[in-house]
Amino acid sequence: MKIGFIGLGNMGGPMAANLAKAGHDVIGFDNADVAVDGVEMAGSAAEAASGTDVVITMLPNGDILRSVANEVIPAMAKGATLIDCSTVDVDSARAVAEQAEAAGLLAVDAPVSGGVGGASAGTLTFMAGGSDAAFAKAAPLFEIMGQKAVHCGGAGAGQAAKICNNMILGVTMIATCEAFALADKLGLDRQKMFDVVSTSSGYSWTMNAYCPAPGVGPQSPADNGYKPGFAAELMLKDLRLSQQAAESADADTPMGQLAQALYAQFVEAEDGKGCDFSAMLPRFEKRGRN
Ligand code: NAD
Repeated sequence: MKIGFIGLGNMGGPMAANLAKAGHDVIGFDNADVAVDGVEMAGSAAEAASGTDVVITMLPNGDILRSVANEVIPAMAKGATLIDCSTVDVDSARAVAEQAEAAGLLAVDAPVSGGVGGASAGTLTFMAGGSDAAFAKAAPLFEIMGQKAVHCGGAGAGQAAKICNNMILGVTMIATCEAFALADKLGLDRQKMFDVVSTSSGYSWTMNAYCPAPGVGPQSPADNGYKPGFAAELMLKDLRLSQQAAESADADTPMGQLAQALYAQFVEAEDGKGCDFSAMLPRFEKRGRN
């Protein structure tokens, strides 16, 4: 298959490399000067897209996706498939899918979970939105870049699943961190706290798999000075997307709203920028009730 791949950053680079390694003919474009193993570079997004069966985008946000889509969609042959793997707002995902379908293309929004490690190892999870025909075209490529793909529904359903998941993640991380900080002040040993909660009804992925307390639970960014992993500013981006979606769908999400406000304060007014999102624990440790 001939594949155009636009946005070869931390995630897109290794994803494109895995497609090339699997024998696909991959033509890449990034507006930064990057090189990816096995990927031939084009001079523009339109050039990378023309004559391809599939174009994959992996870009920072919805505005950039919309502007790249404006260049790429007219360059693609009718019947080709546009797969956007970026995490963007649901409205942008739906607008780009509509524009692609109007031009005779198949379209899938397919954000991922699994991070840079999953992108390199080819073990990402894809959550996809689009028609059955579009998903069927994309599925063999998801198999190369990942280990699981869930077809969540029509256009935008992949982004909806991603931001709902990450809203739970942000809220749960804050709950886990504030509970550890309270436990400290109550004189409870952190290991004991972990032993109880990880096998009781307060268990969660943030406690059991990504424990924010150093030296407790499995290896996590807390054991590496809170170097990201999943950066606090990316958590903030996803919480903002969830609240933007809640606003436009008229959904009441008070915990998501509070999590967004706390991560905004942490990243923009405190020292959270550049830290893993689990560094909320040292933040709570330093604070008192008011
Ligand atoms: P990144 O910043 O490393 O990569 C984005 C790339 O897009 C950069 O190389 C940039 O130069 C390029 N780019 C920007 N504008 C462009 C344009 N107009 N034309 C061509 N290229 C352009 O970001 P990333 O970590 O690879 O993340 C990409 C997406 O994946 C984001 O939406 C992010 O939220 C999502 N995501 C990231 C992770 C993670 O752990 N990093 C995990 C899951 C999802």
